Order: sequence, then structure tokens, then C-alpha cells
Amino acid sequence: MRPPYGPSYARMARRPTSASVARPARSADPAALARRLLAWYERNRRSLPWRALPGKAADPYRVWLSEIMLQQTTVATVGPYFGEFLARWPTLQSLAAAELDEVLHAWQGLGYYARARNLHRTARLIASEYGGRFPESEAALKALPGIGPYTAAAIAAIAFGQASAAVDGNVERVVARLFAVREALPGAKRRLAALARTLVPRERPGDHAQAMMDLGAVVCTPGRPRCSLCPWHKDCAARAAGIAETLPRRPLRRPRPMRRGVVFWLVRGGREVLLRKRPAEGLLGGLMELPTTAWKGGVPPPSELARQAPLALSWRPLPGVVRHGFTHFELELTVLAGSVGETIERPNGVNEGETHRWCRLDRLSDVALPTVMKKVVAHALANGG
Ligand code: SF4
Repeated sequence: MRPPYGPSYARMARRPTSASVARPARSADPAALARRLLAWYERNRRSLPWRALPGKAADPYRVWLSEIMLQQTTVATVGPYFGEFLARWPTLQSLAAAELDEVLHAWQGLGYYARARNLHRTARLIASEYGGRFPESEAALKALPGIGPYTAAAIAAIAFGQASAAVDGNVERVVARLFAVREALPGAKRRLAALARTLVPRERPGDHAQAMMDLGAVVCTPGRPRCSLCPWHKDCAARAAGIAETLPRRPLRRPRPMRRGVVFWLVRGGREVLLRKRPAEGLLGGLMELPTTAWKGGVPPPSELARQAPLALSWRPLPGVVRHGFTHFELELTVLAGSVGETIERPNGVNEGETHRWCRLDRLSDVALPTVMKKVVAHALANGG
């Protein structure tokens, strides 16, 4: 018969790296740890718009939508977006029937647009391949676009009551401290995930997952853990050793590389600006942008700039640069401004209606521009572009 809990942490602690892992300070079995956590959760659970009320079944669509939105985004930011998405697309079927551009537009401000594209693809896939019902297993969920191991485990546990351990950065921190794991990330990831699995109870795994999230977000916070409020106060090995704030350990961050590019701010008739659509795949895929050179280590030479410019014009560099940080690199953009009359010949490589379009300057806020391009627009308008 399956034991009521995952592999015991005692077994985990017997592994060869036991020098870097301590047992919890108080001799507690996983069942007792899980019970204390659930009791704390009953009194302290956060009230979040995507959460089912106590004792009620969770809606997989809400769980999935919220988990995708929460990837790399805070609860406070996600709240209003979640409400607006749900009001507009109350069911998976309605989201599947939406146009991608509508979804991208509604996603504006949440960033990491690949999530919105995958959200839409997954909605369509579930509607067409799964009869509109989410698959319940972690493995099947993980096979869907945009659903990684953490999100699959969170949906499986919260929406379907499966004994899955959803391990993100918050949970890694809690587990690293509870067991005083001194091994640094990312090397410690597998160990932390295995330890997290030992804590998952067979009963109420969804509440357990949400309790871990709440504990990490509210009590076992990165800077100053509020140990006096913690249900594992007496169990926590890192607190007992006085090293909680130093865990989890991380290697020093390397600075992100710098990329540069040139953006063309081309105004027609003093009231429209040229936009183009980025390729569907890749960074900011499918979003509108101002025409730009590729973003590389340096600014392209003049001959290359002339080739990539939408028109052979006397381009005027605007003062200053636009800076933006992406996850893996920093970007610095120079803006070249040009203007043409109402009637011009078709610009270079411009396929109007498909990849390019003219947009009224006073309607730019209606376009799903990524944040970096909003910065370019603000910079151009402020500098007489
Ligand atoms: Fe985190 Fe402190 Fe609780 Fe340990 S006792 S798990 S460090 S909040």
C-alpha cells in the first residue's frame, strides 16, 4: 500500500551529502510537519481572487490562468488582470475562441508575452484535443504549452487533489531553511525538490501547496523571515542554527550582457507612425513594434543601417538612448527619426496590412506594444520625433 507521505526525509538526510543537510531541529515526522502547516493555513490563508473558498473545489481554469499570470509577476500586479481576463473570457472555451491579438492586448503590462501566446495555444489545444477538460496528471499537464514542472504540479495538486509538490523559488527557500540545506542553488534544486516532496500529505495536497506558497510569501520571506509567526518555528533547522537569512545560498550573479540596436521612428503626414509585427516565435513574438535593427553587441554600421531603414531618408538621431532590461540581457536603443508627407512610395520591405501598418499617434495606446517599445514611443515624443 502507498504510504501516506512521500519518501521520508529521514531517507533524504541519509544521502551522501548529509553534511550539507540537517534534520529539522525538533524531531518531527513529515505528517506532523504537514499537520502544523495545514493548521496554520486554516487560520492564515490569503484570500486571493483565484482561490476556491475553504471546502470548495477549485476550478482548473482559474488555477491555470492564475498560475500562468503569476510566473515572474507579483500577486498585487496579477489581481486586476485576473479579474479582467475572467470577466472577458469566463471559460476556457471562450478564451480558446478569442483572437491571439485580443489576448496579447489584454496581457499588456504583464510582460513575458510568450506566456500569453502559450495561454492561448493551450486553451485551443484543450478545447480541441481534450474536449475542453484539463488533463489531471502532472505529466499530461507538463506537455501543454507554457506549463512547466512547477505549474503542472500546482494545477495537479490544487485543482485535482494529486499529491504533487509545486516547487518554485519561494518553496525552495522555505525547504532550504527548514532542513538547513547549505548547498548552493542551482545545484541544490533536486535535493530541495526531493525534500519538498517528503512534506506533501496525501490528504489535502492542494491546501498544502497553497500553504507552502503563503508561508514563503508572507512568513518565510527572503530578507527577514518572521520566524515567531511560523508553524515550523520549533522544527526549523536553519532558525535553530541562526542561519535562516543566509539560505538558500546562491552563486554571485554575473552581469547581464549589453545589446544595442537602432529604432526607426517614421512619421507620415505629421500624424501617423510606422509599426511592424515581430515574427510569431522568439522574443516578444507576435507583438507590434517600431521597426528596429536586430539587437546585437554593437550598433550596425552605416551601410547596414541604410539597408535596414524603412526608407532612404535623412534620418535624424534623437538625443539620448532608451534602456530596457530583459531577463538575459540589457538593451540600449538609439532612435532615428524621419518624416514623410501623406503620399509616399511604399517603404522598404513593407507589407502593409500584414507585417506593417501606419498607426495614428493618438491611437498608439490602443496597440499591444511591449514595454520596451512604449519607452521608445515616450522617448521619441519627448524629444521631438
Ligand atoms: Fe522560515 Fe523561520 Fe519558519 Fe524557518 S522558522 S521556515 S526560517 S519562517
